[in-house]
Amino acid sequence: MAAEAKRILMVEDEKAIRDAVAAYLERDGFWVRSVGDGQSALEEFERHSFDMVILDLMLPKLSGERVCRAIRDTSDVPIIMLTAKGEVEDRIVGLELGADDYLVKPFSPRELIARVRALLRRVHYEQEPPMEVLDFGDLVVDITGHKVTVDGKVVDLTASEFKLLTTLARYPGRVYTRMELVEKVLGYDFEGYERTIDSHVKNLRAKLGDDPRNPKWLYTVHGVGYRFEVPRKDPAAS
Ligand code: CA
Repeated sequence: MAAEAKRILMVEDEKAIRDAVAAYLERDGFWVRSVGDGQSALEEFERHSFDMVILDLMLPKLSGERVCRAIRDTSDVPIIMLTAKGEVEDRIVGLELGADDYLVKPFSPRELIARVRALLRRVHYEQEPPMEVLDFGDLVVDITGHKVTVDGKVVDLTASEFKLLTTLARYPGRVYTRMELVEKVLGYDFEGYERTIDSHVKNLRAKLGDDPRNPKWLYTVHGVGYRFEVPRKDPAAS
């Protein structure tokens, strides 16, 4: 075990998956504790400090939902939720409970490792103080100056659109649920206002000239919410 090995708590009641994932993570240099039910997960979480929790949603004794809530009461450790195939509702539940990412079963161990590494990088980045000018080349979001420009031209945004854009753009790649955006952008957390976010996104896209069918920055995550991406430089383009 390397001194700086990242510590992962793996919670999954299907032994075959649990053992396979643990083996892959260990081979990749992680320090892993794995348990098969929710109660043991919380006990293990109390006992050690972890850099990440991989948490199955459907668990005996204490559900993944309850475990996630209990962990979030005391900790902001990154959590990846494992959900069954196609259960969109479960993914939303996971993200709204405070999980950072989710993975739909069946997944390949390589995919899991990629997600784990990406999330650890993102958490590291989020711990840095947020930049006050987000410069994405043709899109510049000046948070202190409350100004947005596309190709050097100032884009006139409402307060909500500005808040929406800065919320998403501060953490590229992070998926925000509509409920999270309602809270962050509108400042309240009533259910039923998720569609308001859709309208703000629609207006924001129109003002930025971002085509929803071929997005450059603002991506719809179907059945969940939205995320901002930094456009990749295409080395083939001139
Ligand atoms: Ca399960």
